[in-house]
Amino acid sequence: MKDIVIQGINWDAKSSFQRGPAKAPDLIRKALYSDSMNLYTELGVSIENDAITDKGDFAINEYFDIETITKKNIESGSKLLTLGGDHSITFPIIKAFNEHYPKLDILHIDAHADLYHDYEGDPFSHACPFARIMENGFAVKLVQVGIRTLNPHQAAQAKKYNVDVHEMRNLDLNAIPKFENPLYISLDMDGFDPAFAPGVSHHEPGGLSSRQVLDLIHSIDTEVVGADIVEYNPDRDFHDMTAYLAAKMMKEFLGKLMGN
Ligand code: MN
Ligand code: MN
Repeated sequence: MKDIVIQGINWDAKSSFQRGPAKAPDLIRKALYSDSMNLYTELGVSIENDAITDKGDFAINEYFDIETITKKNIESGSKLLTLGGDHSITFPIIKAFNEHYPKLDILHIDAHADLYHDYEGDPFSHACPFARIMENGFAVKLVQVGIRTLNPHQAAQAKKYNVDVHEMRNLDLNAIPKFENPLYISLDMDGFDPAFAPGVSHHEPGGLSSRQVLDLIHSIDTEVVGADIVEYNPDRDFHDMTAYLAAKMMKEFLGKLMGN
């Protein structure tokens, strides 16, 4: 089994609406390691495993420090789980992945396509990472699930970059294709319906249930080499509901990274 590194990225400076996700990584870990839940995935795999190393949290000064830190954490060929942070962190992470995985597929779960060419003049806004990833050719296939905010600009961007968008309004989880290359999963917590995950900056009703996302993750049968959990905003949470959901997803992602 390949080693797995966990990194926390304390960064929310590219959020267009509210700050808060910089505080998320440690609160997700706290929920996971509280006495509330055990450390087995639903598929019966323990995440108490010597192959997993948590490198802790990284304070970020400059946006592309995220790339430098990620490069260092995967230089020995480790797989990676990142706790964000706002969604802008995914571009520098994937940029670092490109050296190890020139052919990478991405499963992106989100209410938003995050495909803006720029947002309010910033090409690295949390509304833009997947435009940057696709224009650089860092993903062979980008599959988006849970989208419910497409506007004409982002629909045009999706077409331009040949993104496979599975919108909520006509979602059929069975229509999501199989992946052929090493897979990276990027989970924006606002992909869930705000009823399941109130602790996000952008409440967008009509979203995925916890069960739908878990089933989607369990259905993956290709090698998962990286994942991130982003946009958890503790300032907006209610009874730590979103922290516990993020912690559960962290556990299931670690199971997938371990090959189960
Ligand atoms: Mn997003
Ligand atoms: Mn989003």
